[in-house]
Amino acid sequence: MKETDCLIVGCGLSGMVAARTLAEHGYKVHILERRGHIGGNIYDYRDENGFLLQKYGPHTFFTEHKEVKEYIERFTPVKECCLEYVTVIDGKAYPMPFNFKAIDMLYEPERAAALKERLMAAFPGQETVAVAALVGHEDELISEYGRFMYENEYRLYTAKQWGRPIETISPDVFGRVPVYLSYKWEYEPHPYQFVPEAGFTDLARRMLDHPNITCELEQDALAQLELSPAENAVFWHRGGVQICCPILYTGALDELFAYEYGRLPYRSLEFIWKTLPKSRVRDVSISAWPQAEVVTRVTNYANLPKQQQQSDKTVVAIEIPFEYDRSRPFGNEPYYPIRNEETAALYDRYRKKAESFSNLYPAGRLADYKYYNMDQAILSARQTAQRMIERLSRCSCPGFKW
Ligand SMILES: Cc1cc2nc3c(=O)[nH]c(=O)nc-3n(C[C@H](O)[C@H](O)[C@H](O)COP(=O)(O)OP(=O)(O)OC[C@H]3O[C@@H](n4cnc5c(N)ncnc54)[C@H](O)[C@@H]3O)c2cc1C
Repeated sequence: MKETDCLIVGCGLSGMVAARTLAEHGYKVHILERRGHIGGNIYDYRDENGFLLQKYGPHTFFTEHKEVKEYIERFTPVKECCLEYVTVIDGKAYPMPFNFKAIDMLYEPERAAALKERLMAAFPGQETVAVAALVGHEDELISEYGRFMYENEYRLYTAKQWGRPIETISPDVFGRVPVYLSYKWEYEPHPYQFVPEAGFTDLARRMLDHPNITCELEQDALAQLELSPAENAVFWHRGGVQICCPILYTGALDELFAYEYGRLPYRSLEFIWKTLPKSRVRDVSISAWPQAEVVTRVTNYANLPKQQQQSDKTVVAIEIPFEYDRSRPFGNEPYYPIRNEETAALYDRYRKKAESFSNLYPAGRLADYKYYNMDQAILSARQTAQRMIERLSRCSCPGFKW
């Protein structure tokens, strides 16, 4: 019996989902993770006051795929939840996404009623509309409302988040946030919104709890991998032995190929953590600060699900975006791929190179250079693992070589 059938680089959600899929098909999987913990960016931990903190930013599952919820429920009970999200403009906290309550806050009752009526007439039967459709609308009142949101929130927030003027950013980025045509107040308009009952690290532990899965932390896979273009293979060196097995790789491709064609750019985030009396913090889950000079969002952990509600304290995480720079010594993670024509072309070159190695399977938000929400990461990792399984099952044919 072989010790390992496949190697997985990275113990984030993508790596764990793939590992579990392969393990359940009877394959022995080994995971190498560079960080000192499992879970990748969904990792959470309890602080000394009992708050469950998310080191790499607040996470909630939101999805329209029932199968994603059912998949997570195989490992843990979940808690349905809905975050209260506001955006602070001129000192007033408007519901985010904007909804009819925001209109009531902005206008006198008569004008507010007229605007709501005109919106419903202009977009009949729609639950939401993109802010861009309001800005250029022929109805003067609708377009005034659109311009207010665009100028005071979307334009400022997006430019700060991405470090570029909004005109240079694809409307897909700021167009993601909808405007509600009702009093509905849900940050993400998806039917399934939940968190794992005992947190994300607990979910990760349960996913890895399978006799066919082993995982090593603080192991940079790059130190154990050898690229052999001549043999179209990536070899794994372990204890003096050279192994050629399928490798699912969830790290960044430019790094794997030693930045041969140049660096893929990312935005990063710095989190400033503070423990404060609850009375000093807005009584919502997350507040956006579009007009602040450097801060984009503040997460109030006392108002996230599964927290210690008895305490009169809370923990806040203040987010400051900056350009990812590998040489910065701390607080520096490649969070958001900066996708445009130029970077997509650069990524394609790396992807083609990766495809020339017959046993290499890129997966996840870094290797695919895409902003994946967790549901997308799960679905995509399962597909990649399935491709590996098909290949592995053929692998037992006589004469087959990786
Ligand atoms: C601030 C923020 C908030 C978010 N909030 C939400 C949310 O509310 N809901 C939602 O659905 N999604 C959210 N997401 C997206 C979510 O984090 C991702 O979908 C998910 O974490 C992707 O998992 P992954 O495994 O692909 O990547 P990662 O979690 O980044 O895992 C990759 C792992 O590979 C490891 N690795 C890389 N290179 C090597 C190497 N050479 N050797 C060994 N290990 C290596 C890394 O250390 C890392 O642990 C958010 C993302 C961010 C940045």
